[in-house]
Amino acid sequence: MNILTNEQTQHIRQTLERRAAQLQLELATHREARERADAESGVADTKDVANSQANDEVGAAEAERDRNELAQIETALQRLELGRYGECSDCSETIDASRLLAQPAATRCLRCQAQRERMRA
Ligand SMILES: [Zn+2]
Repeated sequence: MNILTNEQTQHIRQTLERRAAQLQLELATHREARERADAESGVADTKDVANSQANDEVGAAEAERDRNELAQIETALQRLELGRYGECSDCSETIDASRLLAQPAATRCLRCQAQRERMRA
């Protein structure tokens, strides 16, 4: 078993909080761009509409990814609060400290993550 030191936990918390703030900013920017595009679409000609629709789809996929990542980070932060950070959500084993330092938002141990990926493939 490989347990995080207080310092490492603090470092992870900061990393997660910074990333969460960044994602929230990206999502807000995306929302604004979308609202602007909606407001402008009334006057745009057909070609512009097609362009902005294509941009919209890329933007929507990005926003979806950001939202998923943010949800994962919020779960990790919640677990930090509860003192359950680093516990695998599938098998309850302690996740390796090196894995958590590399991927602070990881909620599964390597074994369970690999199993998930095999199942999805
Ligand atoms: Zn596990």
